[in-house]
Amino acid sequence: MPDERYSIRVNKDYFLFCCAHFITYNGDDCERLHGHNYRVAVEVEGPLDANHYIFDFVALKRRTQSIVDELDHHLLLAMENPLLPVTDAGNNYTVNFGAKMWSFPKEDCAALPIANTTTELLAKWFAGRLAKELEKQYGYTPETMRVEVEEATGQSATYSITR
Ligand SMILES: [Zn+2]
Repeated sequence: MPDERYSIRVNKDYFLFCCAHFITYNGDDCERLHGHNYRVAVEVEGPLDANHYIFDFVALKRRTQSIVDELDHHLLLAMENPLLPVTDAGNNYTVNFGAKMWSFPKEDCAALPIANTTTELLAKWFAGRLAKELEKQYGYTPETMRVEVEEATGQSATYSITR
């Protein structure tokens, strides 16, 4: 028997989220606040169902878009970075790094439970969030899911998980 595999991929032009962020690196360096026009692509692999498809394209696009919309025009804030402690200051989050201090309105932030807003961890967070939505809305768990986040043309990170 040949080993056959099917996958579907959605990477619409409008899967775009324009966000500010900054990361820490090499232990004691921290980027300046800057932005990217991120794009996301989602791929799902698995067996065909009774409809002879893996999963409904429309539903996959809709769920992907809703997460993109949550992020778009927000500051991506890593809530679990020990080098960038985040303080809840009422309507704002304040973030410290050495002598630097930032204060951001909470409503302008996408506060993410990740250790750094690297493209890799954004891809992983996106995949987890999407998997939860697919399970909740459609009772669907992809066999393999791949999420690619591009932070600049020709520069992307991919996270994949097989269940
Ligand atoms: Zn960046």
